[in-house]
Amino acid sequence: MSSVKAYAAINSSSPLVPLQIQRRSLKEHDVQVEILYCGVCHSDIHTARDEWGGAVYPLVPGHEIVGIVKAIGSSVSHFKVGQTVGVGVMVDSCRVCKNCNNDYEQYCEEGMTGTYNALERDGSGNRTMGGYSAEIVTDEKYVLRVDAKENLAGVAPLLCAGITTYSPLKFADVKPGTKVAVVGLGGLGHMAVKFAVAFGAEVTVISTSPSKVAEAGKLGAHHFILAKDPSALQSHASSFDVVLDAISADHDYTQYLNLLALNGKLLVVGLPEHQPKVSPFALVKNRRSIIGSMIGGIKETQEMLDFCNEKKIYAEIETIPVSYINDAYARMIKGDIKYRFVIDMSTL
Ligand code: NAP
Ligand code: ZN
Ligand code: ZN
Repeated sequence: MSSVKAYAAINSSSPLVPLQIQRRSLKEHDVQVEILYCGVCHSDIHTARDEWGGAVYPLVPGHEIVGIVKAIGSSVSHFKVGQTVGVGVMVDSCRVCKNCNNDYEQYCEEGMTGTYNALERDGSGNRTMGGYSAEIVTDEKYVLRVDAKENLAGVAPLLCAGITTYSPLKFADVKPGTKVAVVGLGGLGHMAVKFAVAFGAEVTVISTSPSKVAEAGKLGAHHFILAKDPSALQSHASSFDVVLDAISADHDYTQYLNLLALNGKLLVVGLPEHQPKVSPFALVKNRRSIIGSMIGGIKETQEMLDFCNEKKIYAEIETIPVSYINDAYARMIKGDIKYRFVIDMSTL
């Protein structure tokens, strides 16, 4: 066991505070990673504040991790000391079910093991602790290769925001000619724009923030609709093939379903606290469907990282010291970030 520095939520309402935590001794397939950067996902806030239920404190959030391999277990074959690696949202799964065997570990029939606030599968009763910490110890099967040689802080958010938007856009076969709208231009939303543009789609941003008009264009989006203007939304009724919903706050799906053309798909990745309303009339019109999607499997996450490395795709980030984390949460809730906070872990 080693004792490492971390930042933790100690209950659902107090600010996060520094905390010393234990990392397990290396098992034969474990990789010990010194964390350089950790992105700040809205799921960290939902969990730290127990908006989804099930939070167990102290709770160390963080699942957009980039770091350097510091040590390896005796049987590790895919990584070596000194290599740059990533750890995302998942650190384990059952490894034997149908979904695990088909590279869909995120949909493990027993439930995947999250990088934080999950019970370890080793029977120890220990809970996983995330990336707002100096180090993490993870089985090599759930560690990703990071080949990028620059902007490693901009790579970190790919481990969640990146794969969570890449995977459903691929599943929906977004390609040249596809008309895509991205709703909610935050950490996930801005990556969805970058990927949809990279796949050749015609991309529209739908945002509640007038301040993001110019920025959306810089990300490569072709059009912008202000979500607070119902007439603007109505004028685009039945006009998109795909709408990707990355909104973190409670909202109804119906107004976004109405934007879909024949066979259009609403790709839901946002996970607000309360359940949205859906009008069956909006659903049956144009034979629309709602498709949920959770991160991506390890194989697809590696594919996404390699794609980003080849195309030089990074997240747009604001790098922060770890002591700024509570201010960062407050700003994210106000939508005041373009587009992802990333903690520089050398400040811990
Ligand atoms: P984020 O950076 O905070 O962005 C959320 C965006 O939602 C904001 O930038 C804002 O965009 C929009 N928004 C916020 N409040 C709104 C409101 N009241 N009405 C309408 N729009 C609002 O969050 P994130 O990290 O991208 O995460 C987004 C959601 O995805 C969270 O719920 C998170 O838990 C979830 N998530 C899911 C998965 C998965 O596997 N499915 C993975 C990671 C995260 P505008 O300013 O453009 O309106
Ligand atoms: Zn996340
Ligand atoms: Zn499984």
